Amino acid sequence: MSAGLNLAQLQAVHYTDGACLVLAGAGSGKTRVITMKIAHMIEKGMDPKRIAAITFTNKAASEMRERAGHLIGKRAKDVLICTFHALGVRMVREDGHVLGLKPQFSILDADDVTGILKDASGGTTDMATARQWQWVISKWKNMGLTSEQALAQAADDNERIIATLMARYEERLAAYQSVDFDDLIGMPLRLLRDFPEVRAKWQAALGHVLVDEYQDTNATQYELLKLLVGERGHFTAVGDDDQSIYGWRGATLDNLKKLPVDYPHLKVIKLEQNYRSTSAILRAANNVIGPNPKLFPKTLFSELGEGEPVRVVDADNEEHEAERAVARIQSLRAASNPPPDWKSFAILYRANHQAKPFEKALRKANIPYKVSGGTSFFDRAEIKDLCAWFRLWINNDDDPAFLRAITTPKRGIGHTTLAALGAFATQHKQSMFGALFNGMLPAAIPKRAMDGLHEFGRYINYLEYSARRVHGAEEARTFLNDWLKEIGYEQHLYDNEDSEKVAAARWSNVMEFCDWMAQRAGGQIDDTAGAVVAKETKSLLEVSQTIALLSTISEREQEQDMVVLSTLHASKGLEWPHVVLVGVTEGMLPFKLDDDEGRQQKVTDDVLQRLQEERRLMYVGITRAQRTLAVSWTKKRKKGREMVSAQPSRFIAEMGLDKTTAREDPREKLKALRAEFAAKKALADSTPPR
Ligand code: ATP
Ligand code: MG
Repeated sequence: MSAGLNLAQLQAVHYTDGACLVLAGAGSGKTRVITMKIAHMIEKGMDPKRIAAITFTNKAASEMRERAGHLIGKRAKDVLICTFHALGVRMVREDGHVLGLKPQFSILDADDVTGILKDASGGTTDMATARQWQWVISKWKNMGLTSEQALAQAADDNERIIATLMARYEERLAAYQSVDFDDLIGMPLRLLRDFPEVRAKWQAALGHVLVDEYQDTNATQYELLKLLVGERGHFTAVGDDDQSIYGWRGATLDNLKKLPVDYPHLKVIKLEQNYRSTSAILRAANNVIGPNPKLFPKTLFSELGEGEPVRVVDADNEEHEAERAVARIQSLRAASNPPPDWKSFAILYRANHQAKPFEKALRKANIPYKVSGGTSFFDRAEIKDLCAWFRLWINNDDDPAFLRAITTPKRGIGHTTLAALGAFATQHKQSMFGALFNGMLPAAIPKRAMDGLHEFGRYINYLEYSARRVHGAEEARTFLNDWLKEIGYEQHLYDNEDSEKVAAARWSNVMEFCDWMAQRAGGQIDDTAGAVVAKETKSLLEVSQTIALLSTISEREQEQDMVVLSTLHASKGLEWPHVVLVGVTEGMLPFKLDDDEGRQQKVTDDVLQRLQEERRLMYVGITRAQRTLAVSWTKKRKKGREMVSAQPSRFIAEMGLDKTTAREDPREKLKALRAEFAAKKALADSTPPR
């Protein structure tokens, strides 16, 4: 099990008797340590079920499971490898009953939450305000405050209003048997803290807990970790303070500072060799992060050779920048034989909205790509609305789907009725839909509300009955059209969006989705690959059933051979042979540190800390690259609706590229020129004549 590990890594892998912190820079093999340590502990006889490894994203979890699978085979599947939130789901499912929650509780996403908050305020507020409330409430929940505590410490009237809303919001969540994302950390914490038998059970169940990306945990996650591992403190945390990029979401480096205090016997291991990047890339990274204050001093070296110099590319505007990025990808491909896979390229940027011009340029060049970390089609509110209906007619017990469908569009059934129904359902251990037809329900709910509920129940039964019989594309399209008309969905969009343009865009997504459903019912699209032509027609019910599968498939997309477009935040922990870092323009990265008039803000602590976090983001971006890195900026950038002239990001100068001593090899230059020519020719050949 020692193959492919250096001494320090081996030390970290073999130390299983206590608390261990691996603190090291990017690409030094921290994640590898975690995977190898899982394998090592199992080889040494630990029951895989007693090991938990916590990753930052679901995708990282599935990758780690796969790697562990390569090392130890089938036994890997018994290891609990998941995110803090997924661990939370498991804990609440097993033990949430002590908090009054049934095991089929629902998990609300951010859109559901804003919806409930809007409703709780009387429905008069706009989305932006509701989102702001959500943000504040989430912050309080992450600090472990109840609504009463939040009210007691509220600083002004606005906070008092939000605290009052929070109380109503929490009441509703309880009545609906639902939890939000913050509860998935907060509730397990309460379970472990307030219920000694639950705590004893989990501490006995887990022999060792490993945490990746430890620098991005927040205070509640740390408390949870402490309670999970108990006094014995058998855990391994790995992290890099220079890559802490979630401060804006409550992550705190205090968690790193606290470890040696809370665990005096903590074994701290540093890794110094970077196995990912060439020296040229690593030097740029080290230069950038240099000015940031250090929690722990670190040095990082690479033995992969000097490599290609880091390129700085300037562009007139975003479109031009996108063309240049595409040209670079093409010339890098043309330069080697066989050309590198598409999936060895990544284009990274600061914010989701920056993806657009790159998507356009890649499409134009016929290059397969995928946008990771952005909103997928299935994450859109309108698509989720429709899916809630589908889910409900497939599985009547799906309470969150029930709640979403019965309130979207509104049909005069208010939250008091739903809360009464929710309480009744819990009491009778039924789903909400099941409770609709319980003979005792009319005693709990007024007649008028009862009629509305029954009408909805009958309608769902009718839809389920018909969807089973609707076959083929045409029938499916008609059925879907009629249904959308019956529930008044288009009107609902226009009533609920502040802007007509947004409502129209959402409606066009709905149409696109229905076309796609109809095509699948007609057998034109195969369910799994999305492209293979299948012959058989399907019932609409069958087609609906596979949608839930599709949203889970998306998490394993990394296998596909495509160029990746990703935000810097979503690129954490990943690596690609070739990276283009775009939008490295002052005002975009670092993101808007000026105020609106363009004056430099007073350098307050807050501004300084934000700048430092932006710098860490740049460091994360640079260190994703294995072999080549280009950094590009635009001479003009959008500011609101205007285009303003722009400067290269200060981080470009900080990379200290001009100070590099690497000589340019004329043979390399010639090779690059040839490649560029070949790429241009290929592009010209592939452009159809006008
Ligand atoms: P990040 O800070 O970006 O999360 P990391 O410290 O987790 O990086 P890994 O992703 O574990 O680093 O490793 C970086 C790369 O180096 C991976 O491709 C990994 O397989 C490789 N690697 C790690 N350790 C070794 C080693 N001892 N020998 C060879 N390759 C290694
Ligand atoms: Mg890692």
